[in-house]
Amino acid sequence: MIFLGRWVEDGPLSQRGGADMSGKRDYYEVLGLDRDADEKALKNAFRRLARKYHPDRSDEADAEDRFKEIQEAYAVLSDPSKRSQYDRFGHDGPGGGFGGGFNVDLSDLFGGSDIFSAFFGGGGGGQRSRRGSDILYRHTVSSEDVMNGADEEVELELPTSCVPCSGTGAEGGVLDTCADCQGRGVLSRMVQMGPFQTRQDRTCSTCDGRGKIPRTTCKACKGRGRKEQTTTLRFSIPAGAEDGTRLRLRGKGEPGRDGQPAGDLLVELEVSPHPYFERSRSDLIMSLPLGYADLALGTTVTLDHLDGSPLEIRVPKGSTAGDTIDIPRRGFPRLRGGGRGDVVVLLKLHMPSKFPRQVRATLEELREDMAPKDLEARIRDEAETRRRGG
Ligand SMILES: [Zn+2]
Ligand SMILES: [Zn+2]
Repeated sequence: MIFLGRWVEDGPLSQRGGADMSGKRDYYEVLGLDRDADEKALKNAFRRLARKYHPDRSDEADAEDRFKEIQEAYAVLSDPSKRSQYDRFGHDGPGGGFGGGFNVDLSDLFGGSDIFSAFFGGGGGGQRSRRGSDILYRHTVSSEDVMNGADEEVELELPTSCVPCSGTGAEGGVLDTCADCQGRGVLSRMVQMGPFQTRQDRTCSTCDGRGKIPRTTCKACKGRGRKEQTTTLRFSIPAGAEDGTRLRLRGKGEPGRDGQPAGDLLVELEVSPHPYFERSRSDLIMSLPLGYADLALGTTVTLDHLDGSPLEIRVPKGSTAGDTIDIPRRGFPRLRGGGRGDVVVLLKLHMPSKFPRQVRATLEELREDMAPKDLEARIRDEAETRRRGG
């Protein structure tokens, strides 16, 4: 698995408590980490827990759920932009938090499939599946692309099956049965575990679990069975796609060995933040700072918009900072259910820090007129509004 992550120094462990509104446990708690844990600590914690709760290996009753939880926590915290979003908003972040499935390819984290199997004590008997690994590719898209949908074409260095040896790694495709494991791919031995004798299998290192070895190593790929090749990939960004949306390109991952199917290529979309908008599901939220006169007398502000048509914001007279203006069906297309979200404009009061002399004089003249007539009554109204939850 190609995984575009970075790992740094180790950090301390700590306990964190609590679940939030989503009912999900805190990701740091899941991994037993401090909030400031660096990427190496994150990786180590994930490795340790994945080993402990891997459903194929663990006897814990809730291993599968724990494993999923660990994968999700790791997928979010190992992605710097998702991690900072999670740090700020928790599970209930803009865009609906972090739903969906997370699959972290373990073979990558454990440094390749061979080491992976060594960590897990080798295959459970018989030859391991040689389906190619999935490849994760993070692709950055603009908000415009998400609004309108887009067809992408990228060039990537991807592993492809070696042609001269048909992916076998053997000159002319000629393979012999491995003498060490008699073609089983695993070596077994009996081990004393307390009062019990158990059979322990481990992958045959001579043939790397294949049960076969090349008679002569293929020169073109040096026995790897695959080669990096510049490949042109075409895929479509669905209109309304969210940050973290994954597109699965079947069979575009690492080629399988010995006739096994290739893995998939997962394109994970990373939506660049927009200079105006914050996203909340399919809605776009923005702040609009206006001068006092514009709020008092009303105005119309026109902005260029992502959908190509100007966005006209009509501010009614008598508006107050904190009022919102809803512009229906100008947000992102909904991924499910059709239609579009809204643009929600939050009005703010722009207050200059300095006034020219004559502006100050004018404001002094207006001070009396613009103040509430009965201050105490207004204060009581405000208290009443707060009590009603407005
Ligand atoms: Zn062998
Ligand atoms: Zn080859």
